[in-house]
Amino acid sequence: MEIEIATIGGYEEVGRQMTAVRAGDDVVVFDMGLNLSKVLIHDNLRVEGMHSLDLIDMGAIPDDRVMSELDGTVKAIVPTHGHLDHIGAISKLAHRYDAPIVATPFTLALVEEEIDDENKFHVQNDLVEMEAGETMSIGERCELEFVNVTHSIIDAINPVLHTPEGAVVYGLDKRMDHTPVIGDPIDMKRFREIGREGEGVLCYIEDCTNANRKGRTPSEAVAREQLHDVMRSLEDYDGGIVATTFSSHIARVSSLVEFADEIGREPVLLGRSMEQYSGTADRIGAVDLPDDLGMYGHRKSVDRAFERIMSEGKENFLPVVTGHQGEPRAMLTRMGRGETTYELDEGDKVVFSAGVIPEPTNEGQRYQSETLLRMQGARIYDDVHVSGHLRQEGHYEMLDALQPQHVIPAHQDMKGFSGYVDLASSQGYELGRDLHVTQNGNTIQIV
Ligand SMILES: [Zn+2]
Repeated sequence: MEIEIATIGGYEEVGRQMTAVRAGDDVVVFDMGLNLSKVLIHDNLRVEGMHSLDLIDMGAIPDDRVMSELDGTVKAIVPTHGHLDHIGAISKLAHRYDAPIVATPFTLALVEEEIDDENKFHVQNDLVEMEAGETMSIGERCELEFVNVTHSIIDAINPVLHTPEGAVVYGLDKRMDHTPVIGDPIDMKRFREIGREGEGVLCYIEDCTNANRKGRTPSEAVAREQLHDVMRSLEDYDGGIVATTFSSHIARVSSLVEFADEIGREPVLLGRSMEQYSGTADRIGAVDLPDDLGMYGHRKSVDRAFERIMSEGKENFLPVVTGHQGEPRAMLTRMGRGETTYELDEGDKVVFSAGVIPEPTNEGQRYQSETLLRMQGARIYDDVHVSGHLRQEGHYEMLDALQPQHVIPAHQDMKGFSGYVDLASSQGYELGRDLHVTQNGNTIQIV
């Protein structure tokens, strides 16, 4: 059976992920993501109303025109997890394919919200829920399996396409977490089995986000302990404490909520995406948040929440807000600019439970936001965080578990691939033979 892989998006950047695998006449698409930085660089761009072709020209979504070179029928569109760089283009591209969108419950709920918010296109693909550990048939001779992985968002999986020529494992995005705060540990046992059963692993497509970093990425349990340490150290502080993290990082938000309570403060989630992600996770039962937890997204309800916090005394609250990267319209940035009724006083604490995403626009915005907060006297607790992506020893362990015949580095640019190329080369892979460094818009014939 012919096996061909189209590397459509996310092979020259972190963002707009999309890969298609053709096995005989059947094609499975993995991820359809958005490159948010290409959108945010323009002021006030309303993506919901924009045409796919304009977004493709901007480099914001994958250029899926290469799909016409694949001689087969798309049988499934499979987003691996709910981050926008993996699902953010579904509302712009999925309607072009007569295939269901297959994902885990939380991911699918987020996809549904993306589709509902879309104004330009009408995505009517079937939405099919599939959990980690489950499988579905693809055509006559292939099978799709979801393997549980751990990442900075709950309900992440690595999809595996079992073909007569061996398994194609799509390895975006994960870290190797044996003690996640929510959900099951990464299923390394299953990866080892897949590496040894039948024809073994034909091809492994790997998330190279942190491939240039040595060592291993710590567990979410470590981030939780760091956060606990910071929050406990602030227990006796009688002024304002504000925390910010990734809205989609449900485990981290849940830890913040718990520690707020522990130090005698009422947690309040503020900001549109904070309300969206936690509200969705709570609604589908993916997380157990307190029934009376306040979540406010709309401007008026946020204003009312801030007024209540100021009138009842900010020493009684922990606002958990959007804006960990200094995004211009996010809540923490607005607080820094003095646009909310929350007043920061000399010595008030701002806890960033997030790292800075190393991208120039981002670094500039974060610097600006932090400076504005400091000018009001805020003390900054930075980088109370661990990454959601594998570092080198994790990559080594994955190669060891899967023993793939071919590897394709993804989720980075050329510079970002370099650490992975060195590692794979040291394990006997050879560029151009079984180690395929590629770019957006290429197809690679594996069999
Ligand atoms: Zn991700």
